[in-house]
Amino acid sequence: MTAKILDGKKLASEIKADVRERTERLKERGVTPGLAVVLVGEDPASKVYVGQKEKGCSDAGFASFLHRLPETTTQGELLALIERLNSDRTVHGILVQLPLPRHIDSDAVLSAIRPEKDVDGFHPVNIGRLVSGLPSCEPCTPKGIMRLLKSAEIPLSGKEAVIIGRSNIVGKPVAMMLLAESATVTICHSRTEELAAHARRADILIAAVGKPRFVTGDMVKEGAVVVDVGINRLEEGLVGDVDYEAAAERASWITPVPGGVGPMTIAMLLENTLEQAEKAAPAAR
Ligand code: NAD
Repeated sequence: MTAKILDGKKLASEIKADVRERTERLKERGVTPGLAVVLVGEDPASKVYVGQKEKGCSDAGFASFLHRLPETTTQGELLALIERLNSDRTVHGILVQLPLPRHIDSDAVLSAIRPEKDVDGFHPVNIGRLVSGLPSCEPCTPKGIMRLLKSAEIPLSGKEAVIIGRSNIVGKPVAMMLLAESATVTICHSRTEELAAHARRADILIAAVGKPRFVTGDMVKEGAVVVDVGINRLEEGLVGDVDYEAAAERASWITPVPGGVGPMTIAMLLENTLEQAEKAAPAAR
């Protein structure tokens, strides 16, 4: 079998076109979606991600407010900024770029964002709502993965979904979303025994490990759907967590890296921000 491509770049551009159109309509009602991005320190990868988010905002017609703070920023200073952004009516979404410097407690900072402005979906209230099946601001990468699976009408109910990685950002929330779609979900992690055997059972295999080509072809069941979340920067360029060529020979669908999950993450961030701005807008007469 040669896998069909789950084209995140194409789907993301369709979603971004829809966001742009809805933004124009919202602006006619006097509201411009505003995203505040907070970057602390000089982490090179974070700078790249923040640049992509800023470009996404300007393409969509949003206002973007970049707050670049030095590495030496104290937790108190950062919390004070969050407080200001919480009460700023032109800001509908607040995104604090992770990782934060070690002297800052990330949990305290993420918990300080008002849940309605938490467009990254990392606030404990939003995570709790997600787990409880209540409407919430959903984390962007897992939401993007689900949107990709739905766009290809991949059946999820009753299927075996195996996720490799248990981070709060990807592994755990995507597990909850797949469970909500009635998949049978297994989460594997660094202490999992017989990981390859778990992976080989998967109808839907999601790799969010952060290790280049961690998932080899023999870990993929014939006909499985493979979603590669990994972004590994090697000298040869960007590489995912899946050995793409080998996996594509066995899978029915696969996401490429780049051009798979990555573009969906930004599209979902813009959509989350727009939705918050729409909620904040006065009702149309
Ligand atoms: P993380 O480091 O927080 O988590 C990695 C997970 O992998 C951990 O839960 C760990 O238990 C598991 N793991 C590590 N070694 C393992 C092993 N040998 N066997 C099994 N499991 C193992 O990473 P993260 O934030 O979830 O990100 C994972 C990858 O996804 C990274 O490459 C990251 O850059 C990428 N990422 C991409 C996007 C996107 O938009 N495409 C968004 C977020 C993260």
